[in-house]
Amino acid sequence: MNIHEYQGKEILKHYGVRIQEGIVAESPEKAVEAAKKIMAETNSKFVVVKSQIHAGGRGKGKIRGTEQRGVQLAKSVDEVRDITKNIIGNVLVTHQTGPEGKKVNKVLVAQDVYYPGASEPKEYYIGILLDRARACNVIMASTEGGMDIEEVAEKSPEKIVKEWVDPAIGLQPFQVRNLAFALGLKGDAFKEMVKFISALYRAYVETDSSMFEINPVLKTSDDKILAVDAKVNLDDNALYRHPDLQNLRDITEEDPLEVEATANDLNYVKLDGNVGCMVNGAGLAMATMDIIKLSGGEPANFLDVGGGANAKTVEAGFRIILKDPNVKAILINIFGGIVRGDRVATGVVEAYKAIGDIKVPIIVRLQGTNAEEGARIIDESGLKVFSAVQLKDAAEKVKQVLAGQA
Ligand code: GDP
Ligand code: MN
Repeated sequence: MNIHEYQGKEILKHYGVRIQEGIVAESPEKAVEAAKKIMAETNSKFVVVKSQIHAGGRGKGKIRGTEQRGVQLAKSVDEVRDITKNIIGNVLVTHQTGPEGKKVNKVLVAQDVYYPGASEPKEYYIGILLDRARACNVIMASTEGGMDIEEVAEKSPEKIVKEWVDPAIGLQPFQVRNLAFALGLKGDAFKEMVKFISALYRAYVETDSSMFEINPVLKTSDDKILAVDAKVNLDDNALYRHPDLQNLRDITEEDPLEVEATANDLNYVKLDGNVGCMVNGAGLAMATMDIIKLSGGEPANFLDVGGGANAKTVEAGFRIILKDPNVKAILINIFGGIVRGDRVATGVVEAYKAIGDIKVPIIVRLQGTNAEEGARIIDESGLKVFSAVQLKDAAEKVKQVLAGQA
């Protein structure tokens, strides 16, 4: 689950990671109030107004139809009001949102941390994520802060240093020193970075996160190290252990079809193809997607209805697939193990009737317990549903349907 920058920063602060302080606001008036408070509390001359959306690249991104950036420096409270008016309620397009962009509902009014001083402020990159291949967490650090890290990885991979942390042993102090040293830090800034990384790692582990990306981490002109940005991904499978973190969910930022699927206990991932599929079991779902490709189609989604598929789950799955305008055919591929074929068939027929007016052809392939009976129920229903018992038949039917022959 992704969360907003301001929420990620609250988590960091709770774990003792120094952050760029800010207050979230949902209107220009609230933003002005927030700016006054932040200026007073942090003794800052300026503030930055930062669009809160679940996507990065906001600093370079533009509000649709304008030259307004998603992150802007404001030198007075009047500027805060004007900037916020231009941002809230409008659509921000960044290289991560795609051309459709994302509507901004909130801004974070944050202290300006790029103030002048004894030295120039300097940006770094620090990310923590799971390295599945090594079964370890990995901490990545780079002097190329503020840049797209994928680009750095491609063009100058030597500028990214990594420390792998064995979860059984935990993060060792020498590893943290290695990272701070590799960033070229000395004196107070070195000590601050050691504290920063240690606290950040603890926050990552204790929140069961799967990704922390702090870009930029800033060394201020007076040698403080702080998080200017926070991209946090919490592991959905561990959320049950963190009721407080569950509340950070913002469903307005998520794909509506995926939200509906989650509410119905379905594992659904939207894809770009034209053949919707509904399958029980993740392995069979993968095989089904392969079959769709072999038949000349492209899967429109991944949908695992789970072991206990019934008329209700089948109907929910149907509705979700049908809301995707790209879907030209639906392939239902169910193996009757725990669930019986006749029950699935009845579910499909009932769902079909309940939804009504389904324009796309549906191919149902049942195997396992009571598969033949299921096929009979479908054939006798009089609906535009094709049954197939063998996977090969199902693939052939998908091909015919896509070619418009069925
Ligand atoms: P992203 O573009 O979505 O990654 O958003 P960030 O939170 O990383 O902010 C984008 C950029 O805004 C940063 O790289 C900084 O250059 C700039 N920025 C952020 N905070 C401040 C600030 O306090 N003062 C100034 N002058 N610039 C800031
Ligand atoms: Mn950033």
